[in-house]
This record gives sequence, structure tokens and C-alpha cells, in this order.
Amino acid sequence: MLPFPTDHPQGPPVFRFAPSPNGPLHRGHALSAILNAELARRHGGRFLLRIEDIDAERSRKEHLAAIDDALRWLGLVWEQPVRQQSQHMDDYARALDELKRKDVLYPCFCTRGALAAKVAAAEARGVEWLRDPDGAPLYDGACRDLPSMEREARLAIGEAHQWRLNMRKALALIGPLVWRRFNPQTGATMDVVANPLRWADPVIARKGLPTSYHLSVVVDDALQGVTHVVRGSDLEAATDIHVVLQKLLALPQPLYWHHPLVMDGEGHKLAKSKGSQSLQDERAAGIAAHSLQAEAFLLLAQ
Ligand code: GLU
Repeated sequence: MLPFPTDHPQGPPVFRFAPSPNGPLHRGHALSAILNAELARRHGGRFLLRIEDIDAERSRKEHLAAIDDALRWLGLVWEQPVRQQSQHMDDYARALDELKRKDVLYPCFCTRGALAAKVAAAEARGVEWLRDPDGAPLYDGACRDLPSMEREARLAIGEAHQWRLNMRKALALIGPLVWRRFNPQTGATMDVVANPLRWADPVIARKGLPTSYHLSVVVDDALQGVTHVVRGSDLEAATDIHVVLQKLLALPQPLYWHHPLVMDGEGHKLAKSKGSQSLQDERAAGIAAHSLQAEAFLLLAQ
């Protein structure tokens, strides 16, 4: 039996595969897509494809076409129309406004370079700079307590800024949170205590955009009625931020399963950024779709 989230309306379970078209797919993406489609098939559910292309500079038409081609090659069938995040900025802007109304966001004028310089200076003094679960230096909160006059003045002249979540303020409002992990084999669920403070004040809207990965993903999962989020375990820590945003925006919380990542020969996770062998390369080398399917089914049978 597939467990169900308590605050979702009853209905068929809804799964989604949500790739970003900013690089070639690799075997880990294929695994994620198959797992979502297969769980939907086994449980009479729906399988959606969502294109996470808020990053206009890095998103490419050829990667989009390659996603379509790869999923067809895998024999998967998904619902139409496909939601493409770049077409729905209004939805994210509304959610961003709501968070601003709740007074849990602040504009941050820091550049990446300025933070990097602080980190380098601290490390040169032998001071260890704390990092988030992805290994990025934690934001030091420099813009959190700017005097409101200064803040307004800098906004008024159009100084480039991102919007960050004041995590302590948000948590004071909503209290401690858990998210629910589900086991796709046994149907058992487990509460996981969220630890969002390990992200400090995450970026909720990037410079020049009304959104970020975190905001778009929670808005879309809610709008699309996603009940079960199945994605790689590299995104498990980010769930802490997602459940905070869901609570602040009064959105239902899906159940989560973060599946094991596909590793390369040296035990590193496959990643676009590291130029791992792409799915297309593997196809050219003769890998068969059914061997990827077998790999996914094995995870569901363990
Ligand atoms: N778009 C994200 C990625 O390509 C996945 C988002 C998600 O599944 O929540 O890694």
C-alpha cells in the first residue's frame, strides 16, 4: 500500500520528474524518471514531467529536446501539457509577495564575490567558515539587519538584490517542523525532523527573478497536486527549506523518498557540472533502456 499525505485531497497519487535543461542528462536522471513513472504505474497514479528552467542563461533548447528524446527512449509516457517554469513567473511572484507580506524576507545586496572575499579572509586567518549541506559557504547575514531607511533607499535606486528568507524569524512564526519520508517498498512512513537552520538564510528569489529553485519547486508541487516527491538523495537536505516554505505559504506537504544516487567508477555522484558521462554517451556506447529499467526495479524490490 502506498501511504498518502494527510493534508492532500484524496485521489490518485501524483508523481513528477523535474529536470533542469541546463546540461545533458546522465544515468541518475534516467533512474529518477523511471522510478517516478513506475511508482505511478504500479499505484494507478499520474506521472508528470516538469521543466525547471528558471535559469534563462543556463537553460538550452537542445537540452530540452534531449530530455524529451531520452524519456521516449526509456519508453516513458507523461501527461501533457508539460509545465515549464519559465512560463509561470506570475505564480512565483505571487508566492514571493505573500512571503514579503509575512515579513520573513529581506533584500540582500551582497554579491557572490563579496561573500567569497570574506570567506577567503577568514580562512587566511585560520578561521573555519561554516558551510551549508551543499558545501557552499553559509551566508553571514550581513544584510539581515540593515536599517530600514538604507534598505528602502537601495531598493528605490534599483540596486541589484536577491531576497533571502530570515530563517530564525520564519521558524519563530511556524515552530519546529517534520517532513515525512515514505518507503516505496514497504509503504512505511517515518517522520524526519527538519533542520533548516543548517542553511542559514537561503535565497528565495534570485537577482532579477521573482523566484529560486526552492520557491518554484514548492509552488509547483502544490499547484500540480504532487503527492509523492521522488528525487535523488542529493536533494534531501533541501527538503528542510521546502517544508518551511510550504508551512509559510499554507501549502500541503507531499511525502518524500530520496533515492540513492548513481555513482561513477570512483564512487562520486554523477553530475552535469563535473562532466560525467551523459546518457547520450552511454546510449552511443550501447547501453540498453531495459538495463536502466532493471536498475530502477531493483531499487524498488530491495
Ligand atoms: N530540477 C532539479 C534538478 O534537476 C530537481 C528538482 C526536484 O526534483 O525537486 O536537480
